[in-house]
Amino acid sequence: MKMHVLDGGRLRMRRRIYVPDADKTEPIELPVIAILFRHPDGNVLYDTGCHPSVSEDAEARWGKLAGVMTPIGAHTANVIDNLAALDLAPGDIDVVVNSHFHPDHCGCNEFFTEARFVVHEAELAAARAEGAAAQGYMPQEWDHPMPMLTVGEGHDVMGDGRLTCLHLPGHTPGLMGLLAELEQTGKVLCVSDAVSLRRNLDHDEVPRNADDPEALLASYARIRAIEAEGAMVICGHDDAQWQGLSKGADAYE
Ligand SMILES: [Zn+2]
Repeated sequence: MKMHVLDGGRLRMRRRIYVPDADKTEPIELPVIAILFRHPDGNVLYDTGCHPSVSEDAEARWGKLAGVMTPIGAHTANVIDNLAALDLAPGDIDVVVNSHFHPDHCGCNEFFTEARFVVHEAELAAARAEGAAAQGYMPQEWDHPMPMLTVGEGHDVMGDGRLTCLHLPGHTPGLMGLLAELEQTGKVLCVSDAVSLRRNLDHDEVPRNADDPEALLASYARIRAIEAEGAMVICGHDDAQWQGLSKGADAYE
C-alpha cells in the first residue's frame, strides 16, 4: 500500500489561535493536507482539503469564516488537481475518510461521487446540531447524496487492519485520526487537527479553537503513546513538517 501526501490548499490565520503567547496580529501560514492510500482493494482518501473555488473567492463559499482562515497561494493547490497529477480522477476514489467536517478538511467531498464516506458518529451529530454554523460547519461542504457510514473508535476501513480509524476528540467532538500500516515505512498516524501544530503536542498546548480542551489533552497523550511505539505522526497544519514530507508522486511505501 502506497501513501501519497497531497496539497489541499494553504491558509493564513492568526498565530495566536494556535500559540497562546503569540502577538495578537502575528500571522501564521498553514498547509492543508490530504492523504491518499492506494490500498490493493481501493483508493482511500483521508480528508479532501479546501474547495478549489476558495482560492479565488473564499467569502462566496465560506462567508465570514474566510476572514478567520484566509486561503492564500497557488490556485492549483487543491486535491482534485493533485490527484490528476497522479492520473487519478475523482471517480477513482473508493473511500473518503473525513477527519472532521470543517471546510479545510472536506471541501472537495462533493467531487467524489463514486466514494463511500466514513465519519465519526459524533462528528455528524456536531455538524447537524443547532448552531453548527458558528462551530465552522457548513452543509455544502459535507452534506451530499453519497453513502455515509458513521463509525466509532477502531473502525477498520478496508477490513484487513491496514487502515484503522481512531477517535481523537478535542478539536471537534468526532475528530478521527487514521492509523496506517505501511510495509516499509511502518505505522503512520494521521491526526489532522487533533494536533494542528507539532509544538502543540510537544508542549501540551491547547489551541483557542478547541471544542473540548480536556479531551484534546487526552488525545495528545494517546497520540504520544502511539508515537512512542514507532509511529510517524502527520500533524494537521504544521508547515515545518509539511516542508519535509515527501509529496505527490513521491510516495511512502
Ligand atoms: Zn484544519
